[in-house]
Amino acid sequence: MKRILLLLAAMAVIIGSIPKVAYASPIAPSLSVIIAPDQMVPASAGYVYIGGGHPLTVRASLDGQPLPVFWAGDGYEAIFSYGFDEPPGDHTIEVYAENPLTGEQISRTQTVTVLDYAYPKEQIALPFNLIPLLDRDLNKQEVSRLDAIYAVRSDQGMWDWPYALPVPGGIITSRFGGDRTYNGGLWAAHHTGIDFRRTVGEPVLAAASGRVAAATLFDVRGNVVIIDHGHGVFSQYAHLSETYVTIGDPVLKGQIIGAAGATGRTNGPHLHFEVIVNGVTIDPLRWFALAPNYVPPREVDPSVDGSTGS
Ligand SMILES: [Zn+2]
Repeated sequence: MKRILLLLAAMAVIIGSIPKVAYASPIAPSLSVIIAPDQMVPASAGYVYIGGGHPLTVRASLDGQPLPVFWAGDGYEAIFSYGFDEPPGDHTIEVYAENPLTGEQISRTQTVTVLDYAYPKEQIALPFNLIPLLDRDLNKQEVSRLDAIYAVRSDQGMWDWPYALPVPGGIITSRFGGDRTYNGGLWAAHHTGIDFRRTVGEPVLAAASGRVAAATLFDVRGNVVIIDHGHGVFSQYAHLSETYVTIGDPVLKGQIIGAAGATGRTNGPHLHFEVIVNGVTIDPLRWFALAPNYVPPREVDPSVDGSTGS
């Protein structure tokens, strides 16, 4: 009994020491807008970020056309992208946000310039046995098949920065965008991804969380995994020797989804990695670099390394 009384006395002291709550007006973060970058090369993407709490009334447009805006966990975002064929010129982004609780409003108009930029020309020579994979119709059919996958726009809930390299300690052997001519003109196309040096069987990791949109065989890309990250963003992993996921599977960033290989049109084992935003392939490293504190991966000279493919 004495112990209970002591306990009650101790509790009274503790409760008495809790400070009285001061009721003041709630503190709401101020609205802020970031639009980046303001200069872009063809085949790259940018974003609009609106901070200042949830819920907000938010609108964004690009050249007068509405941009889909989504809640990204700590703010609202909209993303825009331009393909390889985008001519140089200025575009106008307009953003309006309002906090319905405080009545605060913000509006921003910013010009985004697509630069006059040409990707370097590359000559690729493939061995004789791969020449059938330079067929024009076959290549167009593969792109159509991919476009159908990228046309599905899903909402995965949360936006997912930063992205991670699909291979640990990845070394790049071929950059994005090269304006390639194959075997003296049998086929010409931009390099739609970046190539990482890999040996057959090395693990390939999901660059961000999402859901598997395809895990199947393509003629040119070989065994491919495509992950839908939501809001029109996809990543693609090609020339795999094995795939460890199937369509519909949820995947987490860093999860092993397959093994590197040399399937499809390639003259050596490597990982070909693509990022697709709003239906167009963009430079994955420029996409990664939109996140703060981004550290670019090492590169090697493909002419020295010799492991580049397609
Ligand atoms: Zn490639």
